[in-house]
Amino acid sequence: MKNKGILIVVSGFSGAGKGTLMKRLVEEYDGYALSISATTRAPRPGEEDGREYFFLSEEEFEKRIADRALIEYATYCGNYYGTPRDYVEKELMQGHDVILEIEIQGAHKIKEQYPDALLLFVMPPSAEELHRRLSGRGTETKEVIDQRMRRAVQEAEGIEDYEYIVVNDDLETCVQTLHGIVTAAHHVPERNEEFIEKMRRELRGE
Ligand code: 5GP
Repeated sequence: MKNKGILIVVSGFSGAGKGTLMKRLVEEYDGYALSISATTRAPRPGEEDGREYFFLSEEEFEKRIADRALIEYATYCGNYYGTPRDYVEKELMQGHDVILEIEIQGAHKIKEQYPDALLLFVMPPSAEELHRRLSGRGTETKEVIDQRMRRAVQEAEGIEDYEYIVVNDDLETCVQTLHGIVTAAHHVPERNEEFIEKMRRELRGE
């Protein structure tokens, strides 16, 4: 029973640990493809162009919007972020489960265009822990941390739009839970219509 790839949207407050989780998920299990977004935010120390993000100028980003090269984009804390179209479509065609690690406005736009997309929300165990993780990165100014905490207050209002929430307390447990959800999603009847039809034909002796 092999069906086509699932478009998986993973959102969660900045600092919830989505990046690390997604890296582990892709390392531990086959069949995933992690989309790399474009952004106008400056690279953090250690980030590389084409690995964490495609780092673009505003002008370059706006050209991609005009060329319809992004399947969605949003502004977040003063910067553009968007998902390149080519990679996502190519990987889905090849049967891979494509992960988009994007914020909530982007998640809504994806659900409108791809109603079958699976929407997951990753949360830290507590607000205090979120603050600790954001400060612990050591790469963000106090102002940016405060801005991201305020943004989390807004994003928390939209959590019910997601199909599953996962608490990132222990990394390995969380990775297994995420993989379990995706595996289960592959087994719903709506994603297996061809197989069901084939079985029906066989049972009828056709
Ligand atoms: P950060 O600056 O911490 O890397 O990302 C800030 C926020 O932008 C995160 O919530 C992240 O999930 C989101 N984000 C990253 N890439 C994209 C994208 O392509 N589209 C949208 N809509 N959000 C994104």
